[in-house]
Amino acid sequence: MEIKILLQIFLYVIILMVIKMYIIDFIKNYEKYNVKMYVDMDGVIADYNVGQPYNYHLKRPLYSNISKLEEISKMENIEMFVLSVTRMDEGIEEKNIWLDKYAPFFKKQNRIILSREGNEFMPSRLLKSNFLKSVDRGDNRIIVIDDDPAVIKQISQENEDVILLKDTALVD
Ligand SMILES: [Mg+2]
Repeated sequence: MEIKILLQIFLYVIILMVIKMYIIDFIKNYEKYNVKMYVDMDGVIADYNVGQPYNYHLKRPLYSNISKLEEISKMENIEMFVLSVTRMDEGIEEKNIWLDKYAPFFKKQNRIILSREGNEFMPSRLLKSNFLKSVDRGDNRIIVIDDDPAVIKQISQENEDVILLKDTALVD
């Protein structure tokens, strides 16, 4: 029985080594640079739980995306951030609790969770784009992963240097 489990683990490791991971290869293109990588939460690492009552801590974690991002976060030249928007202020705490549980490799000081309530209910796309405008580039490259086309469009119009990825870039 134990040998069977060991064989399964061995097989799994081999499969992981053989499958080319698109996102990992993509990020390696920037290995000569310091990269700040900003990752959206809803639709990228947390499911939407469509049709269910709102309860953030019950949101389904998207484990395959989370594990790829965790691997990327271990790369020496990558600094990984969350860039997320919440409608109400209390969502900041809810999202932090969720991250502590499912994606704790996002360091507390690297969690940018912007409240719409605290910003005159500005649309998410503007909150995110404005935040990115304020980021000190230095010699960093900035990569953003988001699932919302409106967010991607806004950022591309106002932050031409930002490298934008749709959430589907995490899918092999
Ligand atoms: Mg999203």
